[in-house]
Amino acid sequence: MKRILITGAAGFLGSHLCDRFIAEGHHVIGMDNLITGDLKNLEHLMQLERFDFYHHDVTKFVHVPGKLDYILHFASPASPIDYLKIPIQTLKVGALGTHNLLGLAKEKNARFMIASTSEIYGDPLVHPQTEEYYGNVNTIGPRGVYDEAKRFQESITMAYHRFHGLDTRIVRIFNTYGPRMRLNDGRVIPAFMGQALRGEDLTVFGDGSQTRSFCYVDDEIEGIYRLLMSDYTLPMNIGNPNEITIKDFAEEIVKLTGTDQKIIYKPLPKDDPLQRQPDITKAKEILGWEPKVGREEGMRKTFEYFKTLSKHELQKTEH
Ligand code: NAD
Ligand code: UDP
Repeated sequence: MKRILITGAAGFLGSHLCDRFIAEGHHVIGMDNLITGDLKNLEHLMQLERFDFYHHDVTKFVHVPGKLDYILHFASPASPIDYLKIPIQTLKVGALGTHNLLGLAKEKNARFMIASTSEIYGDPLVHPQTEEYYGNVNTIGPRGVYDEAKRFQESITMAYHRFHGLDTRIVRIFNTYGPRMRLNDGRVIPAFMGQALRGEDLTVFGDGSQTRSFCYVDDEIEGIYRLLMSDYTLPMNIGNPNEITIKDFAEEIVKLTGTDQKIIYKPLPKDDPLQRQPDITKAKEILGWEPKVGREEGMRKTFEYFKTLSKHELQKTEH
């Protein structure tokens, strides 16, 4: 049995990772300060002997007693409205938090993985994005706090790998969706589904010609798991290359939810990337991984989840 520390455990991806490692028979220590996460994502694990929860801010010194085999650093605000609201914490969790956890990994001789992001490519001039592309990021723009924290996180991780010989993994995650996303976290899928459930119009930003490529959470977790278990130490894209414009996507959501909501247009946020699609050649060749869940099936499962939450979450937005 391995002992694994997962930061950001009460969040969307962190909680699914906890489930995966528990299902594999390991001991999981989840760590979170609950700044954007929610303990209800972990409540089904709390009674297990093989699960511990530490309420802790990883930008402060991190101490975990006993051995650790793997550390997965997934703590970070991840939605644009979150990191615009808490820009300093976003920079700190990527920079100071990563430094603290690298120190812990070195002390425990643990394999260390960071959750990097397609955002390190910024508003990309290369399409689809390969891992070799250096990116096009506005350092001082509103999204810069997230993008640069993640770029620093990659740099310091590679420095520990090269200088200290630490065993490291870097996953560049592209837009992922599924159950346990926060209904009002501002990302496009919960935003559209929340609007459909409340009977509001769907807000497309800009003219809706910008593209994204959405990956269902089960596929993403499988890719992350395989990368962690591989011996590949350079950054790897994990995402679904099926690209769609946000306007077409809004139309799909109207069809899926069976509502007759109108689509309305709002200004495009500053530095919103115009196109995004992962090149997953490396993941296919090295991990034998590719996504299996199509958008229709994934969106249906996600909508079912939001429907079960809707009353509670909709009440919350009224206060
Ligand atoms: P999320 O907001 O649901 O989860 C992040 C978790 O980190 C939350 O539970 C939050 O409370 C916790 N956290 C934040 N700062 C912390 C701190 N200082 N100390 C301890 N805990 C802290 O977001 P998510 O979508 O699950 O994203 C998880 C990770 O994956 C993030 O690092 C994000 O950058 C990365 N990522 C996600 C996506 C995606 O599409 N979901 C895409 C690219 C990268
Ligand atoms: N978006 C939108 N309406 C919304 C929320 C988001 O049109 O209510 C757009 C947003 O401008 C972006 C895309 O949807 O072009 C994806 O946004 P999200 O915040 O989900 O992720 P990211 O921009 O980080 O990829």
